[in-house]
Amino acid sequence: MRPNILDNIFAPVTSLSGVGPRFGKLIEEFLGPKQVDLLFHLPAGVIDRRFQPTVRDAPEGRIATITVTVEQHFPSNHPKRPYRVRCRDATGFLHLVFFHVKGDYLTRLLPVGSTRVVSGKIERFNNETRINHPDYIVAPDARDSVPTIEPIYGLTGGLPLRTLQKAIAAVLAKAPELPEWIDPSLKKQRRWPDWKPALLAAHAPQGEADLAPTTPPRTRLAYDELLASQLAILLLRAHTRRLAGRAIKVPGRLRDSVMKSLPFSLTPSQRQAIAEIAGDMAAPNRMLRLLQGDVGSGKTVVALMAMLDVVEAGSQAALMAPTEILARQHYATLIQLAEPAGVGIALLTGREKGKTREDILLRLASGDIGIVVGTHALFSGDVAFNDLALAVIDEQHRFGVEQRIALSNKGKGVDILVMTATPIPRTLMLTAYGDLDSSRLTEKPAGRKPVATRTVPLTRLDDVIGGVRRALDSGAKIYWICPLVEESEQSDLAAAEERFASLRKLFGDTVGLVHGRLKGPEKDRVMENFAHGPTNLLVATTVIEVGVDVPDATVMMIEHAERFGLAQLHQLRGRIGRGSKPSSCVLLYGAPLSETAKARLAILRETEDGFRIADEDLRLRGAGEVLGTRQSGMPEMRLVDLAAHGDLIPVARDDARLALERDPELKSPRGEALRTLLYLFERDQAAAYLRSG
Ligand code: ADP
Ligand code: MG
Repeated sequence: MRPNILDNIFAPVTSLSGVGPRFGKLIEEFLGPKQVDLLFHLPAGVIDRRFQPTVRDAPEGRIATITVTVEQHFPSNHPKRPYRVRCRDATGFLHLVFFHVKGDYLTRLLPVGSTRVVSGKIERFNNETRINHPDYIVAPDARDSVPTIEPIYGLTGGLPLRTLQKAIAAVLAKAPELPEWIDPSLKKQRRWPDWKPALLAAHAPQGEADLAPTTPPRTRLAYDELLASQLAILLLRAHTRRLAGRAIKVPGRLRDSVMKSLPFSLTPSQRQAIAEIAGDMAAPNRMLRLLQGDVGSGKTVVALMAMLDVVEAGSQAALMAPTEILARQHYATLIQLAEPAGVGIALLTGREKGKTREDILLRLASGDIGIVVGTHALFSGDVAFNDLALAVIDEQHRFGVEQRIALSNKGKGVDILVMTATPIPRTLMLTAYGDLDSSRLTEKPAGRKPVATRTVPLTRLDDVIGGVRRALDSGAKIYWICPLVEESEQSDLAAAEERFASLRKLFGDTVGLVHGRLKGPEKDRVMENFAHGPTNLLVATTVIEVGVDVPDATVMMIEHAERFGLAQLHQLRGRIGRGSKPSSCVLLYGAPLSETAKARLAILRETEDGFRIADEDLRLRGAGEVLGTRQSGMPEMRLVDLAAHGDLIPVARDDARLALERDPELKSPRGEALRTLLYLFERDQAAAYLRSG
């Protein structure tokens, strides 16, 4: 159970005084339902109101706090004209300007002849010095109520800054002092403040410099989050390890027979991955291993070897794919490769129905089928295995912890192998999984030819078109990718249609167009025309479907390449270089390029190694976007900026590991503090494993 000391800040946002149901709901949707969620929403900016010039010396565009006397009101005589109030000090006039004024509140707020302290941004207009809608207007004796320095927060539509500021200040005021969970020597060495002072300081920046992620308060808070996540990962792993696994040890008869008849020889990294997996499975613990490699790098073969060992041991293996198409593709590969071993392989997706399905279910339950390939259909309640020992999950671009658990519940001590085609930078791996075992297929996908990559400014489009013409004449198939113009699909489409029209004028009927709005069958027809028909130049909006394979395509043009993510460019480029002919990729960019954009395009020219590209991507962009953190199932980090705090991850991991070694049940005073930390970051599940043992 959550320690009582946290109750205060785990109360609902809606119960905060001054927030009310409407803003409460907005905050809840924006930041989360608990008051602690407000604490972790750190300022994005700062306003300094300490500058108190005379009217004459107030520079345009700056925030100033000025003391003036109210002289005269000029109410608006037209809805489009503002209400103006003329004020002055010894040096000149200051006009306060208000739009859409209702009622007489201004006469009460600014009585003629009174002195007022006003604060806001100075504007000059028609030779007048103005403040439009001052942020503060107070009598001189209330001058202390104008904050000297104000934190600015990221907002959501309809939520006023002032309301959010007040709500956050209220939670800060009642936040408890918490016992220290950070290793004392580390804390001392880094000069980190205590938790509460760190929060207070982070929410009270004194200038731009205090907003940097590397300030001691912000670094400390980020470290807390990293420590909580590393601790949670270690506890979850310890828990899984305690669950009985099983040792699969066989001579490898089936595997050898398949290996002998493979039409190719395995790459060194495939061999290594196979050995690593076999080692895990032979150990009595449960395996949880990630197998990473680009599409086509030969993950399926690697998984097959593990599955064959399981079958040889008299048990069963399941391979789950995210889509029907991919399940069928895997099934086809496996059938072909595993033929010599004479193993029973079945396919089970939503399409297998009635008698066929019943038959498969019977044979799964009897153990007649050694390997089953399928989709989510494999989780259905009526699917029962005789003895499932290995689950292989092809997650492609998505991670789903629940799916893993659901499948492993279908057997006893099920080993799990997760395959992914998205290279995950090492830092992100560590954040998400701690030291989850991982094997990487690093060689270029089987049979791939290197792709020559060039960058060309769009101003040289004419030359490029000349090159396209020559390529078409020599019989090449060409992709032409149009960029994301704006956030709307509509305008993307318009740009692609325009490009399509202009290319069609030049090259005629050989030009095709595919985009997200096309219906399934129509899209299939366009793709089919490109793969095997008369289309030789295919204009496409951002995403060409994953899995589309046109081995004959040898040229890829990417328009406004600077607008794409590195990973996306890598994936796009992966569609060429699949056949026997040399391929080339042209990255067309709009000049001038920013330094970062330049660096990104340079990396693509230099390498086709997806892992290196992912690491560089992380370095250049900062974490978040590399993998959409939400959809990837990576834990969301609220205080951590992986680009700035990445080096703290191994520190947090070692700290967590040592703390658990010394005090496995977290019973010591520091252990208790670490428990509090887990609950603070809502790692309740991990904390629960501590108790249940
Ligand atoms: P992935 O699952 O990583 O996308 P696959 O395992 O489906 O890739 O392999 C893609 C294709 O390459 C398959 O036809 C497979 O038989 C073949 N393949 C796998 N390993 C090799 C290799 N070492 N040499 C040549 N071809 C290979
Ligand atoms: Mg595959």
